[in-house]
Amino acid sequence: EPPLTVRSLSEAIGRPAKQILGILFKRGEMLTINSLLHEETALELSLELGVDLKIVKPKDVEDELQEYIDLPDDPSVLENRPPIITILGHVDHGKTTLVDKLRSANVAASEHGGITQHIAAYQVTKNGQKLTFVDTPGHAAFGEMRARGANVTDIVVLVVAANDGVMPQTVECIAHAKAAGVPLVVALNKVDLPDRNEQRVLQELAAQNVLAAEWGGDTEVVRTSGLTGEGLDELLETLLLTAELNEFKANSQRPATGACLEAFRDEGRGPLAWLIVQKGTLRRGDVVLCGQAYGKVRSIFNEHQQELDEAPPSTPVMLAGLDIVPAPGDKFVVLDDLDLAREIAERRRMAGRQVSLSSRGGKRTLEDILNA
Ligand code: GDP
Ligand code: MG
Repeated sequence: EPPLTVRSLSEAIGRPAKQILGILFKRGEMLTINSLLHEETALELSLELGVDLKIVKPKDVEDELQEYIDLPDDPSVLENRPPIITILGHVDHGKTTLVDKLRSANVAASEHGGITQHIAAYQVTKNGQKLTFVDTPGHAAFGEMRARGANVTDIVVLVVAANDGVMPQTVECIAHAKAAGVPLVVALNKVDLPDRNEQRVLQELAAQNVLAAEWGGDTEVVRTSGLTGEGLDELLETLLLTAELNEFKANSQRPATGACLEAFRDEGRGPLAWLIVQKGTLRRGDVVLCGQAYGKVRSIFNEHQQELDEAPPSTPVMLAGLDIVPAPGDKFVVLDDLDLAREIAERRRMAGRQVSLSSRGGKRTLEDILNA
């Protein structure tokens, strides 16, 4: 919240600071242009100067914005949307290999050269139905996103190597999925290896309260190999079935809201943000507020670098048009007014600066000052 001073009041009501200081002087208060004012005093002064001052607190705007995002939809307008899936698991259990296999089955041959380019999220089509995969860089990032209130995941795929079994990070991933309250599907991976021990892994999972369906529990376990491609069709089918059971729906007819997965600055195109649309439809020309960034949507691209006119719920897009680079986990919302978006973004930047200044506790280095 920007400080309320004689100067800011003078600017807000369009009266000279001298006049305000004059009234205060008559009241016996010797203040300067930079003196802080109480809200009540500011209201009194404005009244005396014949101006109807309205003090808008940032928190109110933020609350209103959150209400707008959370605005419930009439069940009759809800439509099925693709499930949003995050793949988690212990290091080296085969997440990247699995993802590459899933993606390569879904990209045109001509595009293979471009597959090395980093993709934050992508869609896979199976039996005419879409599935959205978010490429979270580890379960820690998954937890951070959640901690920031960006719950984008519907289903977690837990990759467990059949030869290695449940490892420390596997346990952490299970905890994250449980905390998120989302269904878990286990990919019992590397089943091509001769030293696999499936029963032992199922047992270790059971010890973590993840009981396989084949053992009477409610967790689907699919045998996979990212190397041979075995089980990948079954994994996708299991995910579609899980989605069907959970009825993931959204209203595509409202202004888009969602979250930023990651963002960076591109030499030519400026700030680029990977967003996932959770509700509504994002369109070119929309005014977007995303964390401390705002702007008019110049273009939206899918993971194949194809330009889209619009992105319905559960679509991951790369967006160009924001003025600065937002942060992962920032929520985004489409507003109908660019001025409002700018105002909120600027207020957030100011608040962010105040927080970071006070948290430095006076120990400012030259670098801090240069980067401020
Ligand atoms: P990540 O750390 O979970 O992303 O694991 P990677 O995908 O990088 O795989 C780690 C290692 O396991 C690499 O050497 C892969 O070639 C190998 N690997 C991954 N999936 C399989 C699999 O299904 N079978 C076998 N035999 N090796 C695999
Ligand atoms: Mg990896």
